[in-house]
Amino acid sequence: MAVATITPLPPAGPVMHGSENRALGILLDDARAGRPVHVEHIPARPGREVPWPPWVPPEVTGAFADRGVRAPWSHQALAADHAQAGRNVIISTAAASGKSLGYLMPALTALRAGDTVLYVTPTKALAADQLASIRALGLPWVQAAVFDGDSTRAERDWARSHARYLLTTPDMLHRALLPGHVRWSGFFSRLRYVVVDECHGYRGVFGSHVAHVLRRLRRVVAHHAPGDGPPRPVFVLASATVGAPGACARLLTGLDAEEVTEDGSPRGPLAFALWEPPLTDSRGETGSRLRRTATAQAADLLGRLVRENVQTLAFIRSRRGAEAVALAARRSLDAGAGAAAAGAGAAGVSGPGRAEAKVAAYRSGYLPEDRRRLEAALSDGSLVGLATTTALELGVNITGLDAVLIAGWPGTWSSLWQQAGRAGRSGRSAAAVLIARDDPLDTYLVRHPEILLRHPVEATVLDPDNPYVLGPHLCAAAAELALTEPDLDIFGPAARAVTDDLTRAGRLRRRQAGWYSMRRDAAGRHSIGLRGAGLAPVRVVDEATGRLVGTVDEPSAHLIVHEGAVYVHQGDSYLVRTLDTSDRVALVEPGEPGYLTTARDVTEVEVRGELRSMTWGQAEIRFGDVQVTRQVVSFVKRRTDTGASLGETPLDLPPRHLLTRAVWWTVSDGQAEALAAAGIDLGGAAHAAEHASIGLLPLFATCDRWDIGGVSAAQHPATGKLTVFVYDGHDGGAGFAERGFGAAADWLRATRQAIASCDCEVGCPSCVQSPKCGNANHPLSKRGAVALLDTLLADAL
Ligand SMILES: [Zn+2]
Ligand SMILES: [Zn+2]
Repeated sequence: MAVATITPLPPAGPVMHGSENRALGILLDDARAGRPVHVEHIPARPGREVPWPPWVPPEVTGAFADRGVRAPWSHQALAADHAQAGRNVIISTAAASGKSLGYLMPALTALRAGDTVLYVTPTKALAADQLASIRALGLPWVQAAVFDGDSTRAERDWARSHARYLLTTPDMLHRALLPGHVRWSGFFSRLRYVVVDECHGYRGVFGSHVAHVLRRLRRVVAHHAPGDGPPRPVFVLASATVGAPGACARLLTGLDAEEVTEDGSPRGPLAFALWEPPLTDSRGETGSRLRRTATAQAADLLGRLVRENVQTLAFIRSRRGAEAVALAARRSLDAGAGAAAAGAGAAGVSGPGRAEAKVAAYRSGYLPEDRRRLEAALSDGSLVGLATTTALELGVNITGLDAVLIAGWPGTWSSLWQQAGRAGRSGRSAAAVLIARDDPLDTYLVRHPEILLRHPVEATVLDPDNPYVLGPHLCAAAAELALTEPDLDIFGPAARAVTDDLTRAGRLRRRQAGWYSMRRDAAGRHSIGLRGAGLAPVRVVDEATGRLVGTVDEPSAHLIVHEGAVYVHQGDSYLVRTLDTSDRVALVEPGEPGYLTTARDVTEVEVRGELRSMTWGQAEIRFGDVQVTRQVVSFVKRRTDTGASLGETPLDLPPRHLLTRAVWWTVSDGQAEALAAAGIDLGGAAHAAEHASIGLLPLFATCDRWDIGGVSAAQHPATGKLTVFVYDGHDGGAGFAERGFGAAADWLRATRQAIASCDCEVGCPSCVQSPKCGNANHPLSKRGAVALLDTLLADAL
């Protein structure tokens, strides 16, 4: 039962752990802003230091010793030994556990022997940071260079002729290094290691693309470095903690890898609090009471902590939110300082300027100097509070804080721990607080600490077999080197059928030695990006300056960058002026109108083919190909501060067709009749179950609520029965619905619990209401959804 897992807290007053954990003590001291639903005390862990592996040259150990690294932690040495022995390995340990030493030991040793190393990271910023730390080691034989979209021609030429340690992104591998592999043959022929850093970030469609780029890389290296020596290249993957690291490595590279998961780095004790903001007097559109927003709650908690001089980092979704939170914390400091000065009868020592210096906001796009300045201010204690967007997750070396506040589930278990891991230093207790947003997933998680804090259920989800992703990579691969029969195995079981389709379509030509690319495709591959499937993405352009702000996957463009939408990119906010779908461009202007927008769509689903199915008694669960017809019909504005609705605006956009994959379930007519006889509104029950299940799927499939959609009906034409569909919002599918099918019993049980344990009466945004519902959340039956899911799950395995 859901309720049994909630740990009740002691009443306000003297607190249980306040004396051991100062930050938590301060937060529990003031009960006005609600209280945590759960506090988990995670004990300290001593570090396990081991000797340097004997094969690491003394110059390397000496260089690390000069940087303060006396000896490796056990997980670093274990990973290094695997790589050195020629075994692929994935290191999956906590943030700040020093994964880089694990791959640097073998990498620097290989460079000493004249081999080369390729380092692949999702962002250019991280590559630049890595380059700086490698150069700082001062090893004379390490010729390292970043190769990215910003490199000049001279830099590229230098890198090609001299670099032994090349740092790049999957995009550059795809666009430049692999197509130009002949010119890079010196580098590829000596390539010993491929380091894939932050690999938990490769998921969904982007992850599927990266998986094929790495397969193309394997083929190119085999071409330039043939022979029967040890296997080349050896992959070393570094990931935040994920559910099944070996499976993640296999999906990405197509190869087996050793798992290194036992973290040997030391950790201080951490109190992890799960906080649900209190209900307010504001009402949502169906009359239900709204919760205080996670951002407002974070501002309040940050203010309290900085007033007591507790060094705190707050993660906020948007830049505007982060700035508002920093401002609120400064005000609270000023107020505190004014009161203190008045009480002491002395001249104020802390004017507004001082408060300003003590609390800052951080966003993406800061220069390295700015970042280093912030790091320094935090480490010398002059900066007490920092509110940031998730831009901080990469490339900023800030750890050892007293407290971390996280406004809203950050989307993945690994991000959660990466953010929480910024708190804590050895010997001192720190606190992390997850503040729930008003949606089903956050509500479920803060009420199920055993899932949130102990057992990750999410899996790395990507689908390299998606033909929309696979096709362009087969063409690109054939342009690089003729595709042979054995090569098709590298690209997976779907490769043969897709290759035949491409041959019939005239994009590949079959000859004796294999398949060749047609010339126009060799040029065409430059136009496929890695960050979406199918059609080229829609460019988001600043109308005044012509600057490219970002790109949006074509199928999502109507939802995200319709006219009048507020588009938030890396924490910066823009207002969309126009969307031109034929030119694939959305014109925007910078602006923060004080509201956010949510598009509403109406959807129809047609089943094209069934791939898998199972039965739970009379209920059936299926997975297969569908055609989704989706039309965005309107959008709703909601105030940023309170979440209150500011009304709906109709839109006139054409319907769009999507060939994708879906998971769907039905109950039998007999089961439906029994529910109806018990007074259940079947349409409202199915609709409510659909919304909540879409809200919960991201927990199992590591996707965003916006990556998936749903349809439900008391009697759906495709099945003739009560049916709920949940589909991938990308052409060809992204693996999310498939994962939903695979985890169906757990996923739908969690959905049932999330609805049943919500304390609202008839349904609210925390359980069954959806912000993107095209039917304005009507009809919805909370009670009916629980009964329907009970019926569905009665015979589930
Ligand atoms: Zn509710
Ligand atoms: Zn709906």
